[in-house]
Amino acid sequence: MIESNISQSIDKLRISGIVDESIVDGPGIRLTVFTQGCSHNCTGCHNPGTHDYNGGVEIQINDIINMIEENPLLDGITISGGEPFDQVGPCANLAKKVKKMGLNVVVYTGYNYEYLLKNEKYKELLSETDILVDGKFDIKKMDLTVPFKGSTNQRIIDLNKGAMAS
Ligand code: SF4
Repeated sequence: MIESNISQSIDKLRISGIVDESIVDGPGIRLTVFTQGCSHNCTGCHNPGTHDYNGGVEIQINDIINMIEENPLLDGITISGGEPFDQVGPCANLAKKVKKMGLNVVVYTGYNYEYLLKNEKYKELLSETDILVDGKFDIKKMDLTVPFKGSTNQRIIDLNKGAMAS
């Protein structure tokens, strides 16, 4: 990842925005957090405003938790980006709190699952993730008919089963 001024605190997350009810970022009704900062530079990225590690705003993890607690309709949260694993500490902290509330966690990443598995620092967030959507967006493989992912090379991985969901 590119060095940045992103906080090292696990209690604060730099985000580009939050959608408080989404039905397109995973199963059911979800609160989606778009993290700020990404160095993958996928051609045709749908969200270039999330790339700058110094952009967006910082938010306290507890403020996100308060938003979640206010909505009994939520099935879970989705952490998207930007690149969530470039802020792995606060994302893991958020995911852990959400799991304790009995909700599920979907995480989108431009990294491949195999790459993440090789680095100890990513393990805590992986262990709190139910479904991982991995891989860079590939505009040549874009398929808007495939649910929950932008291009067909990306994989939806059920980390509870250790298997590919699709
Ligand atoms: S990983 Fe996502 S946010 Fe980052 S460049 Fe690729 S499509 Fe854009």
